[in-house]
Parts: sequence; C-alpha cells; structure tokens
Amino acid sequence: MCSAVAHAARARRVDLFLKLQQACAAEAQAASRPITVTIQTPHRDQEPAHVIAASHTTVPAQLMRGISNRNQIAACRVNGHLWDLMRPLTDTCHLQFLFWDTDWDYGLKEMCWHSGAHVLGAALEEVYGDDILLCDGPPVKRGAGFFYEGHLKHGQTVNTDALAQVEKHMHELCRLQHDLQRIDVTPEQALDVFCDNPFKQHFIHRAQQQGETSISIYKLASFVDLCEGPHIRNLRPFSSKTIALTSTSQAEFDWSGREEMKPDNWDTHTPLTRTYGICFPSKQMFRHWKRDVEEREKYNHSAVGKSLSIFMQHDTSPGPVTSRCRDAVACVRACVRV
Ligand SMILES: [Zn+2]
Repeated sequence: MCSAVAHAARARRVDLFLKLQQACAAEAQAASRPITVTIQTPHRDQEPAHVIAASHTTVPAQLMRGISNRNQIAACRVNGHLWDLMRPLTDTCHLQFLFWDTDWDYGLKEMCWHSGAHVLGAALEEVYGDDILLCDGPPVKRGAGFFYEGHLKHGQTVNTDALAQVEKHMHELCRLQHDLQRIDVTPEQALDVFCDNPFKQHFIHRAQQQGETSISIYKLASFVDLCEGPHIRNLRPFSSKTIALTSTSQAEFDWSGREEMKPDNWDTHTPLTRTYGICFPSKQMFRHWKRDVEEREKYNHSAVGKSLSIFMQHDTSPGPVTSRCRDAVACVRACVRV
C-alpha cells in the first residue's frame, strides 16, 4: 500500500457520472407521462392502493407515504422484479415494498449483500486509490456475504493492516448513509467512464456483444461502479450501534472456470486479490451468523481429524491426506460427539 494514495481515476469517473446524471434527468423529464402504480400494502386483507405517478421521474421511495411501517422498508419489487427504491418507474406497474423485518429471505438478503459489495469496493478504492483495478464484486453464490476482487498494482497484497483500514472505511460509509444512485447510459458512454479499467471494459464489450444497448452504472459516495443492480437504498441499517460488518478473509484469485471474466489481453499469471465481507441489518443476526461459523469450525472434520491424529499430512506436501483408520469421517464424527 502506497503512503500517498492517488485518486485521479476515481475523481474522473465521479465527474463523468454527475454530467451523465444531469443529461439523464433532462431526458427523463422530457419522456415523462402519467402512469398508474398499484401498491400492494403489507396487510393482505387490505385492498391495493392505486396512485397516479409520472413515468421516468417518480421513484418508489416517493410512494411510501401511506405505508404504516415505512421505516422498515428496505427495497421493493416492481411487477415481481426486485427494484431500487430510488430508480424511476418507467410504466404502469404493480409495486410491492420489502421490509427488513419480514423479507430478509425473500430477496433482501442478496440485495443487501450485493450492496455490501459496493461498500467494500468503495473502501478498497479509498485505501488503494489508482493502484487497484476492481474486477467483479457479487454476493457469494453458495454461502454467505459478498466479495470484491481486483488487481493490485506493484505486487501489493491486502494484508491485515490494509484489511483493518478497508473495514474502517466500510463502517464510515455506512455511517454517512449515502444513497446508491443509478444512471442508464449507452455502452459507449460506459466505456468512457471506465476507460482506465480493462475488466469493466471487458464486461461492457461482452454486454454489447449480447445485444445490450443500455448499461447501468451506480454511484455510492465517490465510488462509481458498473452494475445491473438492484440494491437497497443505502446502508442505513448498518450505521450507529447496529453495525455488523466485517472483512472476513482474502485470497489470491484463480481464473480457472471463470475465463469469460478475463479480458483478452490479461495475463492469467497476473493475479487478482479477492476480499470477502459480510453484513447484516442487526447486531443479533450478525451474532447468530458468527456463532454458526464457530460451530461449523468446531465440527470441521479435517481440522478435528488432524488434531486427533486420525489423518496424516506432510508439511512439504499437504495435498495428499492419509487416513490412519478405516473410516476416518465416521471416526471424527464419533470423536466430536464424545
Ligand atoms: Zn451492484
């Protein structure tokens, strides 16, 4: 990590985003027309409400006024699809709000962790500046949390000190409660925004080849990223005394199986570093997750097997594992139950 971090590329992206945002707002105003929004209330016994709104300018967050527990609203669905609270509605539609206390397992979890990846990306950029080229930052597919991977220039790595700094910035970003803002632009405009990043350029070219004519870009504070969305509006639930956010580990990236992510001119021997994180909207949920991880670790067969001398592994060749009993897994299970 360099002592003096330069943020020229980030500043350029923000500048361009704000200019494009202004142009998008003017276009939206010109295209706006009346639409009917049918709002499904959280109480099933109540009739849906019908509201007249303006296409391309009205956002779902403006339609929360009549909802009784609106401070619990985290995101929404439009015609069944997950949608940003701050993304303008484009046509007559059916709107359903999602609540922190009831919808965690019905779409909110992925949205929340997806949004967490943006916070992690923003923090990595804050710490490493122009020395990091961010690649992809999705929620973890099979498991919990999210990650962001990127290439660190000059052979740098994300060490423990840097990880602590990244986490500190993540907490700060949550505390400031910036909204995730979205614009939809042409592939050419998106290529211009990410002209310094070969990974983002590769993703845009790939979308172009698949026939996409519109590319969405999000901004969180000073962090501009290429993303399809959707996200929770901001990291409000993670602020104050309910912050439950941690960078859990980092590992060097392996391209195998993900070749489609690799820009054509990218050398596979040039590694990416992946940093993991996780966040929950309450301290209690975070504690439950942590306790589950600790429990799983206790019952990790390979660790228990080694500690009880059931397996043999040589330090110079840790790959081959030799069992010292005929049914090692059954043996470990029996041992941890004692
Ligand atoms: Zn995103």
